[in-house]
Amino acid sequence: MNICFATSECVPFVKTGGLADVCGALPRALDRLGCNVKLFLPLYQSIRTMDHGLTYASDLGEMIVRVGMQDVGFHTWHGTIPDSNVDVYLIDCPRYFHRPTPYTSDPDEDERFILFQYAIFSVLQRYAWAPDVFHCNDWQTGLIPAIIRLNYEWDDLFRPAASVMAIHNIGYQGRFNPLTLLKARLPQEHYYPTGPFELFGSFSFLKSGLVFADLLVTVSENYAREIQTSEFGEGLQGLLASRRGELYGILNGIDVDVWNPAIDPYLTDHFSADDIEGKALNKQQLLASFGLPYREDTPVVGIVSRFADQKGFELLHPMMEPFLRAHDVQFVVLGSGEPRHERFFSWLQATFPTRVGVYIGYNERLSHLIEAGSDLFLMPSRYEPCGLNQMYSLVYGTVPVVRYTGGLADTVRDSDGEPATGNGFTFDWFTSESVYDSLVRALEAYRTPERWRTIMKRGMNADFSWEASARKYLALYEKAVDTRRMHTLK
Ligand code: ADP
Repeated sequence: MNICFATSECVPFVKTGGLADVCGALPRALDRLGCNVKLFLPLYQSIRTMDHGLTYASDLGEMIVRVGMQDVGFHTWHGTIPDSNVDVYLIDCPRYFHRPTPYTSDPDEDERFILFQYAIFSVLQRYAWAPDVFHCNDWQTGLIPAIIRLNYEWDDLFRPAASVMAIHNIGYQGRFNPLTLLKARLPQEHYYPTGPFELFGSFSFLKSGLVFADLLVTVSENYAREIQTSEFGEGLQGLLASRRGELYGILNGIDVDVWNPAIDPYLTDHFSADDIEGKALNKQQLLASFGLPYREDTPVVGIVSRFADQKGFELLHPMMEPFLRAHDVQFVVLGSGEPRHERFFSWLQATFPTRVGVYIGYNERLSHLIEAGSDLFLMPSRYEPCGLNQMYSLVYGTVPVVRYTGGLADTVRDSDGEPATGNGFTFDWFTSESVYDSLVRALEAYRTPERWRTIMKRGMNADFSWEASARKYLALYEKAVDTRRMHTLK
């Protein structure tokens, strides 16, 4: 099966969040299952072609895409996802992609991803490569399903192609001024209140994908249910509920070649469920790297996250100081984002200099060391489509304490509520007291070493590899192809 995978981020080229992990791992797993995958990605300023062995596609040369009234030129670079046959095509348009960050709030943010999406069609046409399925990820590629149906129906290469729209986070909807429709060269007749392109008075790339794609998928079964409700649907719940028969939830896997404590390339001391000694060495290294004293019996709670509204860190503001005063515990925090959270964690570190370590920023190596060296991992998310860190935590023997929402609810079971199968601690209510209470319950379990080891080992023995999820995606693609064939026959 030929799959065109369109994404705005992908490990190892560029990453701002979990989307990049998924787009680096799923295509590789599909490749192993015998699929033929071509992945498209913008060539951002931060991607150094030499580091990834990328070569300039001189056979394509400069190509032109029309963005509104302008002809915009781009070039293409080619590479592969490491250890795979997955072709990666990087769309090189310095005018749009040479900016300090992959995403911006610049006035031409819409144009950047309009160019990217049309460039994919131009490259595929030049190679005369017919995808069976376009797999689109989040709003940055949300116009593709509409572009196939409304602008490329004349092209035999694309007419039979099915499209799957993947929602990694429904909070990001790609909403722009309705005039952006003209830049995207899509017919205005579909823009009207509650129509296929309209959301809250703006033109939404994501909604357009959710209307025109043959099938919809999101990153956990629970999130697939949640986004059909007004609490989580961000205004798209009605549309999603009306397409519930075509909306699937497939839990993300994790890349076990990288996120595996027995071989993790970022760690100097490896460990596994059968040989757990190395975990204590990682704890020592972790605390040393934050300049914190090491005490064997003091549990360490890790946090690695974007500090975004979704992640629920405001719950920590009122409870952390009393919690730290009442309990023998240390915290290590890695993240960046909303200034109020950055300020809060910096203040906490200044208030408890021997008990709280904070690194404001992005640091891949440190994120691995936190997973390996912490005893517990905290995720108080308001919502969490899938969440990767709780799965990394489980396989690293770092017991997760999470809010019972989205993919967190699909992967973490409370050890008090379900003693026979529990692998972590969960709380329902989005309140500071709930976080406090679940951390206290976790610390109590930590004080009972035998129970703690059982909980840890359950997590470490879980299988979150991509293979099972990739098989589900393959079945989904087959269904999408059938669905499209039926439409074509009508
Ligand atoms: P989201 O995509 O909403 O950010 P996920 O849990 O799905 O959340 O994925 C987050 C990914 O980004 C994980 O791989 C996590 O380790 C990584 N990450 C988040 N913040 C940082 C950071 N400051 N430094 C290093 N890695 C980070």
